[in-house]
Amino acid sequence: MKNASPISRSVSESLFETAKTYFPGGVNSPVRAFRSVEGTPLFIKKGDGCRIWDEDDNEFIDFCCSWGPLILGHNNPKIYSSVMAAMQNGASFGAPTRLENELAELILSRNPFIDRMRFVSSGTEAVMSALRLARGYTGRDKVIKFEGCYHGHVDAMLVKAGSGLATLGTSSSAGVPESFANETLVLPLNDVEALKACIAENKDQIACAIIEPIPANNGLLLQEKTFLLALRELCTEHGILLFFDEVISGFRVAFSGAAEYYGIAPDIVTYGKIIGGGLPVGAYGAKNEIMSHVAPEGPVYQAGTLSGNPVAMAAGIAQLTECAKPGFYEALAEKTNAFVDHINAYAKEKGYNFELVTIGSIFWLSFNGKKRIRRSDEIDSDMTGFKIIHRELLNRGVYLGPSGYEVGFISAAHDPESLTHAANMFCEALDVVFAAQI
Ligand SMILES: *Cc1c(COP(=O)(O)O)cnc(C)c1O
Repeated sequence: MKNASPISRSVSESLFETAKTYFPGGVNSPVRAFRSVEGTPLFIKKGDGCRIWDEDDNEFIDFCCSWGPLILGHNNPKIYSSVMAAMQNGASFGAPTRLENELAELILSRNPFIDRMRFVSSGTEAVMSALRLARGYTGRDKVIKFEGCYHGHVDAMLVKAGSGLATLGTSSSAGVPESFANETLVLPLNDVEALKACIAENKDQIACAIIEPIPANNGLLLQEKTFLLALRELCTEHGILLFFDEVISGFRVAFSGAAEYYGIAPDIVTYGKIIGGGLPVGAYGAKNEIMSHVAPEGPVYQAGTLSGNPVAMAAGIAQLTECAKPGFYEALAEKTNAFVDHINAYAKEKGYNFELVTIGSIFWLSFNGKKRIRRSDEIDSDMTGFKIIHRELLNRGVYLGPSGYEVGFISAAHDPESLTHAANMFCEALDVVFAAQI
């Protein structure tokens, strides 16, 4: 077992102390606060390719990639020049620009599932808007959500399963009225019988069923395709819109996301993260029949001062142009598989109860050895191992997002040498984790 010396964090620590006087928990999004791992958050100074540097000048190979958006890595030259060119013409007009058409054309010309779309400024905003559209279009109020899926901090989605057999949701955040939460029906993933029972119980009241088709916010809970197909069928049968939240999986596992990957057509889709090339963009889309219900064509109101912002559109155009090139996703998956296989083979040889679960260029650290497919397949116990490996990897120049519930991402900028090095560091770190446990 090789020990690595702890990294110096004094500058980050001092910045964090100051930040705590400005922001709750010292951060502008809770997971960044490092609460579920050890130490203080690293303040990042810059990124380039697959690497980032913190304010103490520590260098890391980055597998967080801003939690997914940076599929081309940091400081991509094409995104950079596209953004600078847009910026020279002004940051925002609140009027239509050619760039919105260009990004929409890039997406819609390759996407058989949606005819038209709306750009917004975050994944949360996309989900919130699309839920309203689903309700406005169907004239129904209830929505189905699956336990373990994350859909941003929308009131209706900050809901967990109620006690007992009831599918009525109960709010999982202070500030969400129970009366709102009660409109959300919470079901276990991958359970056709529970789905059927819920639909029967709430006949003609359910507007949509929202799901991360590749649930990647509470571990990587890969669904059986038969479940997704059954969900598609039941939705069609009962006039329920099938809502794929592809904020992570969109442009990640395939250009048109999990819908393309599985060959299952959703009725309504949300995108975020990768779509904006690292700038704040979200989007929702559907067939014309549904999209024509959005204002000003229809009665469902939705608007945004900075929606379709030209600088953000320019970043999205540059990024998605690369993603659309032939072989892009195949190359990314191949690289990811080599990385994952290297680490998994080592863990297996050593008899460690550890596996990287993967799909496309996503991976998740499982410390349990069992295939996990539902939130109720408890993953809390994995966090003990994660805490140690997170620390050990930081000490070895490898940055994972500071939460074991979240997945890691590999970008086009992760070169084979860096990946081999990082995989070796994973193996060393695993030795430390399992030395502590034996
Ligand atoms: C990240 C995420 C969101 C929320 O997007 P934000 O841009 O953080 O608001 C919604 N749904 C899924 C599936 C996500 O992964």
